[in-house]
Amino acid sequence: MKQKIPAANVDDLSTWVKYKSSLCQECQGTCCSLPVEVRFSDLVRMGLADAFEADEPTKRIAKRLMKEGIVGHFNHKTEVFTLSRYSNDDCIYLNQKTRLCDIYTNRPDTCRNHPRIGPKPGFCAYKPKQY
Ligand code: SF4
Repeated sequence: MKQKIPAANVDDLSTWVKYKSSLCQECQGTCCSLPVEVRFSDLVRMGLADAFEADEPTKRIAKRLMKEGIVGHFNHKTEVFTLSRYSNDDCIYLNQKTRLCDIYTNRPDTCRNHPRIGPKPGFCAYKPKQY
């Protein structure tokens, strides 16, 4: 019989499990409820900024995206944007029905690199889907 993996608590790194890609299919997409930091190059790939805006003050882009509800926070020092989240902490691009990313092919580098780079490299907060 296949061993059941217990659901992780996203806020408790000790409950995270060793990542393997086969886990993703059965997971609720817990990694998409972690804060997502993005840079200007991500915004261009996501279609939220134009490459020619690179010469503009980044804080102006941040102001626009915050007004549009896409960015929740902007760090002026590091010029890193944090994407907005729903009240349940899900990323605004996580489809609430399918629990899949609506912009998967254009997703930010942070998402591409997870969990290789992240709060606990090589581990993820696997939580099985509730059917
Ligand atoms: S952009 Fe997509 S992959 Fe990244 S956290 Fe949001 S829903 Fe998940």
